[in-house]
Order: sequence, then structure tokens, then C-alpha cells
Amino acid sequence: MSRFLHSRYQDMEPYTPGEQPGENEYIKLNTNESPYPPSPGVLSAIDGEQTKRLRLYSDPEGKVLVDAIAGFYGVDRKQVVVGNGSDEILAFCYMAFGQRGIRYPEISYGFYPVFAKTFGVDGEAVALQKDFSIRTADYHHAGKTVLLANPNAPTGICLSLDQIEDILRTNEEDVVIIDEAYVDFGGESSVKLLSRYDNLVVVQTFSKSRNLAGARLGFALTSEALAEDLNKMKFSFNPYNVNRLSMIAGAEAMKDREYFLECTGRIQRTREKTAKALRELGFTVLPSKANFLFARPESMGGDVYFRRLREKGILVRHWTNPKIADYVRITIGSEEEMERFCQVTKEIVEE
Ligand code: PMP
Repeated sequence: MSRFLHSRYQDMEPYTPGEQPGENEYIKLNTNESPYPPSPGVLSAIDGEQTKRLRLYSDPEGKVLVDAIAGFYGVDRKQVVVGNGSDEILAFCYMAFGQRGIRYPEISYGFYPVFAKTFGVDGEAVALQKDFSIRTADYHHAGKTVLLANPNAPTGICLSLDQIEDILRTNEEDVVIIDEAYVDFGGESSVKLLSRYDNLVVVQTFSKSRNLAGARLGFALTSEALAEDLNKMKFSFNPYNVNRLSMIAGAEAMKDREYFLECTGRIQRTREKTAKALRELGFTVLPSKANFLFARPESMGGDVYFRRLREKGILVRHWTNPKIADYVRITIGSEEEMERFCQVTKEIVEE
């Protein structure tokens, strides 16, 4: 650290992203990417012509992308805000709606407390219940912004729309942000509630269910007034936040509903098969509606299992936080990858 760093950031612990090893080094099940390539439409749309146009700035309003998203979800284009990954959309939310503080679960996306520090927001972390579920009553009348990942990460546990509505109804004077990074793998989207609650922000990403993690694309669906606030943040920070090629990729991916359903369906089927295999090996597996499983081996610590998998060429995610150190998070890869994963796990358990 230099002596020039702003005092506000001197004791800040940055977010630690999952490891990105060299290609083909590992079966990579550690950062919840899709095992499948982007939609064929994406591959053909990004051609030499589009690459030449990189000399020009991208459209700051992101019209092509915004229209494709609005079309898919049946909302007005004025209700859509696009960003450089949903991380950036979440950052805009902290900037715009953090004044009275933000309440989120203690075990959730690791970026939430980091953003609080980055943007000088009072972050309040609320413990989960013993079974790792969220108690909705803990978020009633919060008196501050509420932020929930649904399904939650890294647990994969999902709240129902009734539970979300319960939280919205009791927080009419505050913004409720639902981070739906993993909703397309079996959860129910809160987008349906947008017509009734003008304090709701639904945040989604192209990184998981739309196979475009490297394109860095995320978006918010919200009321026109809140979208205006978020766009105010965007235009005060980085108006060209979505690059030209990602803009095209995102629009094409959003238009290909069939491929999206095929990929997310396959991942859900592979998830259930993997969960069953792990349970048969004595693992505790939380009920997941995401593209990952949160699982605890019976006969060894999460750290040991993580290390043994790594030695055998499989990368998963493990955290040292004692509340979840017995568990690892396993991204659902292709059918073949998960068969290999189950076989290697069996070997480790039987050693
Ligand atoms: N929310 C949650 C719950 C996540 O797990 C992630 C991905 N790590 C994100 C948001 C951010 O995803 P991205 O910036 O790739 O859209």
C-alpha cells in the first residue's frame, strides 16, 4: 500500500474472485460459469465488420441490448438499465440507494460487504437460520435498503415469490433489491412483481444462464423512476460501460429463448443427478435452485475435500469462514464433467 491511498480504503478487504487457472488445467467448477458456449447467434453476429467498428464508442443508451431485454421480459425499455456485469449494476444500487444503509444476509454474495466499504454505505449483515435459509421476518420494516440474492449464494436456497412479496409489502418506503444471478435454474423471478411494487429492483446477469461471463453483462429491471436513478449513476461514472461487442452478444443471446431453455434445462438435470450421487456418498447437499451445489462431505473437512479434488484436477470453491468451512460450492458443469467429478469424489471418499 502506498502512502497516497485514501484513508477510507486503507483497511478495505477487496473481494477475492474465484481462481481463473490456465485453460484445460482443471475441470473448472469454481466460479459458476456455464459449461456451454454462447448461443450460435452470438458467434455469427460478432464478425469482422463488428470488430472494425470497435474504433467507435459503444451506444451509451445500449438501445439494441435494452430492447432485447425489454422484449424478453415484457417490460418497457425505460425500466431496463444495462451494466458491465451485474457487479456494476449492484455498485450503482449502492451509490443510488445506500444512504440509509443496506441490509443483506451474513452468508451471501461476498461482494455485498465489500461494496458497502467501497461506497461508504452502512452494511448490515443478518445471520441465516441454522438450515442456511433466510428468515423473511428479519427483513420486515428494515428502515433501509434490503438486498437479497435469490436463489442465495453460495447456498442455492431460494425464496418463493410470496416470501419476496412479504418483504416488499413491509418495506414500501425503502428499495428492495433482488439479485437474481441464479434465478433461471429453477427459481421464480420477481419480475412478475414489478407492476405492483415501484420500490423493487431486480438484478440479473448474462454470466450464468446466458453463457456470457466473459462479456461482462448485467442489467436491472425496475420502475421507471428507479431506472432513472440508476442511469444517473451510470452516466456519472462510465456512460460507455457496455462495450460494442458485448452489446451485440447480449442482444443475440437474449433473442435465442430456445437455446437458453435448453442450456438451463440441461444444467438443472445434471444438478439433480449430481446431488443424488453426492447424497449416496454420505454428503449433506442443500436444496439448490442454482447452477451449483453447496455440499458437505461426511468424513472430512471442506478444506481437505477441496484440496483432494484440486490435486486430482478439479477446482471447486471453499471458504475459510467457520460458518461454512465444512462445505464446498460445486458449479454444475457438463454431464461428462460431472460424471468425472462424481467418480473422483467416490475415490476420495473411499481412500
Ligand atoms: N450476484 C451474485 C449472487 C453472484 O454470485 C455474482 C457472480 N459472482 C454476481 C452477482 C455478479 O455476476 P456478474 O458481475 O458476472 O454479472
